Amino acid sequence: MAANKNPVRFRPHHFLCALGFQGAGYSPAFTANMSDIVNGQLRSKNGEQTRITVTFVADSICTPCPERRGLGCVKINTIRQLDERHAKALSLRDGECVTWGEALERIKSNVAPGQLSSLCQNCQWLSLGACEAALSRLHAADTPLDKDAS
Ligand code: SF4
Repeated sequence: MAANKNPVRFRPHHFLCALGFQGAGYSPAFTANMSDIVNGQLRSKNGEQTRITVTFVADSICTPCPERRGLGCVKINTIRQLDERHAKALSLRDGECVTWGEALERIKSNVAPGQLSSLCQNCQWLSLGACEAALSRLHAADTPLDKDAS
């Protein structure tokens, strides 16, 4: 699979979104872009070395989203609350650069299975169950960098 080598920027709640991504999205263009980032970079060989810069505005996943409005979002109040909770849980600061492997370590150390109902409250994708399933796999793995079977 061809790797997208564009620099990756994530708003705080998108680290968990990337962990749980199974192909759902807001539009075909959105899903294709997110798949390039998640499957093409983060889940590729040596993907844990991918460097991700933290931002609190529209990021690499937001770019083709039909809900995006410039650097903002039509659901900005809900999104801000999500970002604030995730930034606190994972100790993410604006402008900080972390690798995907470091992000997985932080998720495993700070987010317990079952915690997404509060951490991701009001997310429309939570009921799919893919994110909780991915979080459980992460905790069950011997190391945070073990790949799941998907
Ligand atoms: S809904 Fe908003 S925060 Fe989520 S990907 Fe789209 S623009 Fe970004």
